[in-house]
Amino acid sequence: MRTEEIISFLKADENFDFTTDTPASSLTSFRVGGRVRVVAYPKNRDAFCELTRRLASSETKYVVLGCGSNVLAPDEGYDGVFVMTTKLTGLSIEGNTLTAECGRGITSCASSAARAGLGGLAFAYGIPGSVGGAVYMNAGAYGSEIKDIIISADCWDAARGEVLTLTKDELRFGYRDSALRHNGLTVLSAAFSLFPEDTEKITAEMNDYMNRRRDKQPLEYPSAGSVFKRAPGHFTGKLIEDAGLKGYRVGGAEVSEKHAGFIINAGGATAEDVKTLVAVIEARVFELFGVRLERELIYL
Ligand SMILES: Cc1cc2nc3c(=O)[nH]c(=O)nc-3n(C[C@H](O)[C@H](O)[C@H](O)COP(=O)(O)OP(=O)(O)OC[C@H]3O[C@@H](n4cnc5c(N)ncnc54)[C@H](O)[C@@H]3O)c2cc1C
Repeated sequence: MRTEEIISFLKADENFDFTTDTPASSLTSFRVGGRVRVVAYPKNRDAFCELTRRLASSETKYVVLGCGSNVLAPDEGYDGVFVMTTKLTGLSIEGNTLTAECGRGITSCASSAARAGLGGLAFAYGIPGSVGGAVYMNAGAYGSEIKDIIISADCWDAARGEVLTLTKDELRFGYRDSALRHNGLTVLSAAFSLFPEDTEKITAEMNDYMNRRRDKQPLEYPSAGSVFKRAPGHFTGKLIEDAGLKGYRVGGAEVSEKHAGFIINAGGATAEDVKTLVAVIEARVFELFGVRLERELIYL
């Protein structure tokens, strides 16, 4: 679809907000990236499905994003549509099951669960992503992952115009991996199986995790979290530190002094700076330790 067609479609329907020619740096936690042709914010599931169906059938370039906390957007901009899920935030709790729409923050889900006296999601408190992004990535922390608590996810096949409910098995989770990374489906909502637990106990656990994050992670700088996956048998941050790369800088991108697994935007970083730094780290760690690092950060 041409830009004017997309805009007239979005304008004609009150179920969308949108912007044009918007810097991706304002939409991603790394604060990096050039201008995006159109950024659309569907306000409900039907609007989301209708828009992505149209974009898919017209072969218009688009990407679905939640909080943009695990992506690197290109400097040259994105000649397509960012479909943001941040207005799809419904949440319900029935018995021990919490169901949330894809754009709801996973940290907010953890807080809601805690208030309802349901444990199981505390590990996700402090992960700055959405439910959709967390399911897609099989996000995890402190020994737990999304796969440990998920029951199923309603997913949208924009190419076929079908909603499918995928069970945990069908979602084929792996370490920071799921079937969604390979089948092109979008998460609309997900249901999580939790268990009764004392609100105060869960809150203490969540606060402990948050304090550990503040102690260990450079939260004062823009970043996308850990850039690499854990290398089997190693702590990736330690490998990078032992390679002498703490504080190493390319342009505005820097290996964090606080946590060498993070690359921070120390000011004015470009996507090219980040990519060059990633390549330096990969080469140095392989040369010194024979370990091939695998990237967790997604290049759009
Ligand atoms: C400071 C910091 C700390 C972090 N700590 C952790 C951590 O402890 N553990 C961890 O696992 N991650 C961590 N992350 C990384 C990131 O927050 C997670 O990967 C998170 O799950 C990404 O969610 P998002 O909504 O931001 O996804 P985005 O960055 O918006 O998107 C990431 C990918 O998911 C896809 N996607 C987004 N929404 C959907 C959807 N509805 N359906 C299908 N695909 C979708 C996108 O297309 C993209 O490919 C951290 C990041 C930061 C900045």
